[in-house]
Amino acid sequence: MTDVLSGPVTVTQERRLVTEIPGPRSRALLERRTVTVAAGVGGTLPVFVERAAGGVVVDVDGNSLIDLGSGIAVVSVGNSSPRVVEAVQAQVAAFTHTCFMVTPYEGYVAVCEELARLTPGDHAKKSALFNSGAEAVENAVKIARHATGRQAVVVFDHAYHGRTNLTMALTAKNMPYKHGFGPFASEIYRVPMSYPYRDEAGLTGAEAAARALAVVEAQVGAGNVAAVLIEPIQGEGGFVVPAEGFLPAIADWCRKSGALFVADEIQTGFCRTGEWFACDAEGVVPDLITTAKGIAGGLPLAAVTGRAELMDAVHVGGLGGTYGGNPVACAAALATIETMEEQDLARAARAIEATMLPRLRALQQRTDVIGDVRGRGAMLAVEIVRPGTDEPDPELTGRIARACHAQGVVVLTAGTFGNVLRFLPPLVIGQDLLEEALDVLDAAFTEHATAG
Ligand SMILES: *Cc1c(COP(=O)(O)O)cnc(C)c1O
Repeated sequence: MTDVLSGPVTVTQERRLVTEIPGPRSRALLERRTVTVAAGVGGTLPVFVERAAGGVVVDVDGNSLIDLGSGIAVVSVGNSSPRVVEAVQAQVAAFTHTCFMVTPYEGYVAVCEELARLTPGDHAKKSALFNSGAEAVENAVKIARHATGRQAVVVFDHAYHGRTNLTMALTAKNMPYKHGFGPFASEIYRVPMSYPYRDEAGLTGAEAAARALAVVEAQVGAGNVAAVLIEPIQGEGGFVVPAEGFLPAIADWCRKSGALFVADEIQTGFCRTGEWFACDAEGVVPDLITTAKGIAGGLPLAAVTGRAELMDAVHVGGLGGTYGGNPVACAAALATIETMEEQDLARAARAIEATMLPRLRALQQRTDVIGDVRGRGAMLAVEIVRPGTDEPDPELTGRIARACHAQGVVVLTAGTFGNVLRFLPPLVIGQDLLEEALDVLDAAFTEHATAG
């Protein structure tokens, strides 16, 4: 068993349960949480964390869990990754905050240089930095509206773009994200996504794009569209991978119509799908791209990166915020990017796919409740249905997730219908841990699902 450094100590890379899940210390903290933390803040696992590194999370009772969630696709370089820890400690000791708009610092500029270098396309690019994914998406919409002089924003079924007022309007799913939180922002138009498992058989990417764009032309009008905003692979909506050709066709239409193609790569970006960005798979070059999650090894940072002339269309002072591009988060991002390049974590993501996909497909053969296995790189999922149908089975999905949790494997659910089990391991996870997590998943299906 390997050890991974976490600050001054090492964390053994193993699954080890020493109490029931949750153990007594976690249960005591849960009681305190229940008294004082707003109930609206949800929770996937009832264990409280003491330490985490590499591919494991250690709880306050000493249980060591295999991490297939990465804090929702954030700690792709692993938790407390050594280079990130070192960079953050040095930055905190030097200065913690000045506000880039008051007295600037190099880290912010260096992150923007890296974003220009790494994001798709070799045109001149500029960036602005923010704190959260939702904030980046809001700003991408501001920039698109300002640069085009248009108002309409086109989004897709199953989309997830955040929880602020504008991004709730952009997000598709009512429960839990939008329910009772209206009124929502206007000039948002939703069109059908390419969803190969649920589309009519044989619908090509180009045909799915034509279906979506016909709605835009009829109901919005091409000349009114500021931006088409899309996750190249949908995240919270269920890891929906559009049919090949869908994204290029949408991007082409944008170019012809004077609308901006805005890729929300907050979940897919930074090596998660086996390349720097998911758009790279089909050579799609977005006008604007939003990033967050995996960018800074766990520190809050987000960005909008785009064609220099679009980014510069906004008047001076029109973009910003107190903390956006905080120096500590920027230091973490630079260390994260160095780690990704040095360890070739894009390749690591492809290796995770090579390990997991065949086993998930074998599991699909063995049971009759897995309708679809999909994803790319270290962003993989199974869609769970009632036997012999394509009817979503969110109850079974929840039971299987909880069975994995009880056995010390962190898995997440997703999907408009709540019936997708998704896997987002840290890209540095060991092969043996990954195999063991898949064994636990296998056993959970054997216990809870009918054999096919
Ligand atoms: C998580 C996510 C967001 C929102 O990011 P926050 O940092 O939670 O605000 C937006 N878009 C996508 C695709 C995401 O996965």
